[in-house]
Amino acid sequence: MPVIIDGKELAKEIRMNLKEKVEREGLKPKLAVILCGDDPASAVYVRNKSRACEEVGIKYEEYKLPATTKQEELISLIDKLNNDNEIDGILLQSPLPKGLDIQEAFNRIDEKKDVDGFNPYNVGKLTIGQDSFVPCTPYGIMKMFEKYNIDLEGKKAVIVGRSNIVGKPMVACLLSKNATVTICHSKTKDLAKEVKEADIVIAAIGRRGIVTADMIKDGAVVIDVGMNRNDEGKLCGDIDFGAASKKASYITPVPGGVGPMTIAMLMNNVVKAYENRHK
Ligand code: NDP
Repeated sequence: MPVIIDGKELAKEIRMNLKEKVEREGLKPKLAVILCGDDPASAVYVRNKSRACEEVGIKYEEYKLPATTKQEELISLIDKLNNDNEIDGILLQSPLPKGLDIQEAFNRIDEKKDVDGFNPYNVGKLTIGQDSFVPCTPYGIMKMFEKYNIDLEGKKAVIVGRSNIVGKPMVACLLSKNATVTICHSKTKDLAKEVKEADIVIAAIGRRGIVTADMIKDGAVVIDVGMNRNDEGKLCGDIDFGAASKKASYITPVPGGVGPMTIAMLMNNVVKAYENRHK
């Protein structure tokens, strides 16, 4: 049986350490969250983020915008938050309603308040190995490797999914630890062949049944980023946990794996933003 990577427990440990630091050092970090439209999943994510802020001692402010919001209105809110000296971090919850350009909005967020690490300045710094805000999901995955002493050097890592928020920043994180990295996507010719060679598999697709257990090499480390609903409406990942567990040496469950780590690393980035701004 594989080791099940307990993201829930590790995330709690990270939040508790941050809370202790915030109290001990008298820090007063503040996060502003923009929620635009009425995507039900986004509402849940935002609620979880606000709860985590409360637990850690981060002030939280939410800006709810209607689905009819115009790009100029969104940009003008971001400008206002950029100029608000009380605010350390700005998070724009994705997805945005149709017609709004999310990358243009990310580009506008002050790089010092860019706690999601999606502004091109931080993306660039991460890529060239300089200190930056690391996007929370890849950052959380790296913390899991660290906690479980999973050595990445010289290992072959295969990421399935090339989004700007998960797959691409994951490449930079893995390279920084000397893994050999392959990134696959919907145009990859032979996904099974690529995945079968992987010591580390990271699935970030958002669909079940693309990466299957028979593609996984015996002893591989399996990280499931996907968040889907199964036929009973229950949260599940991209990979069949039961079947993949028969092959993997380490595996993350869904729920209780990558999800809580993403939020914990957001808390980490907000505290970091506060510290950087008050140095
Ligand atoms: P995107 O939809 O932006 O990207 C999905 C990626 O999967 C794309 O690169 C796409 O390829 C690739 N893909 C789709 N079909 C195939 C296929 N048949 N074979 C190979 N690759 C394929 O998703 P995100 O990165 O935003 O999210 C991925 C999943 O992770 C979602 O379930 C999301 O909810 C979850 N997620 C979870 C987080 C957490 O904290 N646990 C945080 C962020 C996301 P192409 O580029 O060619 O279209």
